[in-house]
Amino acid sequence: MKNPFHIMLIPTLGCPARCSYCWSSDPASPRMSIETVEEVVAWLSNLEKERVTFTFHGGEPLLAGAEFYKSALPMISEGLSHMKPEFAMQSNLWLLTPEIARILAEYHVPLGTSIDGPEELCDTQRGEGYFRKTMQGYEIARQHGLRVSFICTFTSRSFSEREKIVRFFMENGFTLKLHPALPSLRNANPEPWVLSPDDYGELLVYLLDFSLENLGKMEIMNINDLCKCVFIRHGTVCTFVDCMGSTFAIGPDGAIYPCYRFVGMPEYVMGYVHDRPALDDLAASPIGKRMQEFKEYVDTSCAACAHIKYCRGGCPYNAMVPYGGDIQGVDPYCRAYARIFDEICGRLDSEMEDGPVFDMMPFSGPRRREQKPGVMSLIRTQAMKDRMLR
Ligand code: SF4
Ligand code: SF4
Repeated sequence: MKNPFHIMLIPTLGCPARCSYCWSSDPASPRMSIETVEEVVAWLSNLEKERVTFTFHGGEPLLAGAEFYKSALPMISEGLSHMKPEFAMQSNLWLLTPEIARILAEYHVPLGTSIDGPEELCDTQRGEGYFRKTMQGYEIARQHGLRVSFICTFTSRSFSEREKIVRFFMENGFTLKLHPALPSLRNANPEPWVLSPDDYGELLVYLLDFSLENLGKMEIMNINDLCKCVFIRHGTVCTFVDCMGSTFAIGPDGAIYPCYRFVGMPEYVMGYVHDRPALDDLAASPIGKRMQEFKEYVDTSCAACAHIKYCRGGCPYNAMVPYGGDIQGVDPYCRAYARIFDEICGRLDSEMEDGPVFDMMPFSGPRRREQKPGVMSLIRTQAMKDRMLR
């Protein structure tokens, strides 16, 4: 299970790439100073939380440079040792150097990076040269023993290329995390690329089938998470839990937001780290109250939905986008979530009716009958892997 308290550090909203659907990049964005990291540590040291995960996000977090990470990582690790900090980074890896890779390896920072499929397809969406520069960084990461997973943004244009894209990830041995191109409160850049809820639902079902057909050969993180959350009846990623109060993002100037997706919009600032606000103060801010309003809205609006426990109305940010920041609906991707949750539940029900399936499972006992891997097989494979990693 991921750590429940999550702080996203946004050292800058600047980024050297120019992806067509990007809504976050801001060339004029300032860089976070090490004094602001000190303030973050001082703010958090008063909070009664047992564990915390920090994700360096952007813009492009490597723009902060080697000296920033050489200071920030030990400062956070030592200053908040009682919260057993874990780290992660989301980066395009263009600026990864051996010097930065060494410090990230020392603090066991797993990297998430983004490519959208084979080079030509990726560069059509993300700009000429993107793929090559990310792969150069990936090589440096690998040489230093850093764990790298890949986020693939599916757009309205790449949806029809889904088989080619997924096979590319499998043939290269890359773990895949799907990200749909989403509309934004900040600007209209993503609009022509946005994946529709129906296409997103269809894509998720396609990826479920692909995962099961290729069990043991390829991992699709979203599918693992979706199956797991249905099985344990609780969300395992932020979209499917009440993220309010357990996730915050800190902008380059020390402003606190509910999530990285709000960073850079002054009307969504909850407070500032240098004021050391209590969690109750953040919850009492106008945007803190709006996040709470979403939770209450979901309790009513989704009350009759069979999936409410592990969906929780989806992402509050997504829900605000069509209404200019107000809460007047749940996440517009509701149709996609309902489709994949119905599919997983239906398959689990028929697998239960058919009796236990042990075939095609690694380390399984005697075979009951020839059968293709189902959702239970995927959940079991994942549980065994999690146990081995512990
Ligand atoms: S607002 Fe959406 S993306 Fe942000 S933490 Fe909450 S669920 Fe996740
Ligand atoms: S699937 Fe739709 S109706 Fe059901 S809980 Fe999720 S957002 Fe609400």
